[in-house]
Amino acid sequence: MKFVCDDNLGRLARWLRTLGFDTVFHQDFSDTAVLTCALNEQRTILTRDTRLAGKALARELVLLSSSDPLEQLQEVIRQRPIVMRMSDVFTRCPCCNLLVEKIDKQDYVAAIPAYVYQTINHFTRCTACARIFWRGTHVQRMIDCLRTAGITIG
Ligand SMILES: [Zn+2]
Repeated sequence: MKFVCDDNLGRLARWLRTLGFDTVFHQDFSDTAVLTCALNEQRTILTRDTRLAGKALARELVLLSSSDPLEQLQEVIRQRPIVMRMSDVFTRCPCCNLLVEKIDKQDYVAAIPAYVYQTINHFTRCTACARIFWRGTHVQRMIDCLRTAGITIG
């Protein structure tokens, strides 16, 4: 399932991307741009804006009520049959929404903290923003954060 978030849902968009979901979000996206994107790319609109929801009646949309990104994620999960898998976590850049690529750590020695370099072998990189990702302690923190919010990843 692919999503487009309205311009107020940046933190939810980052969570969805981190979990591997293709999620379009732009800070300067107008209602029209959101609707056009949803239609052209067959994306589900996520919004808290009832006015936007009204314009999108005939389209695929989830109207959210919470202002908290994890509660919003729960609302999406309750209303759409999305499946979250550990293997999809960190496959997509949370900033750019692009799929990340595997890299050889030897080629990026200077960009990786020394203790991470020594203990972890699997690294990926976003080709757009050049951020490098690995499954370190922050992954467990993220999973704990989701679990606290009542969300489990299969
Ligand atoms: Zn990126």
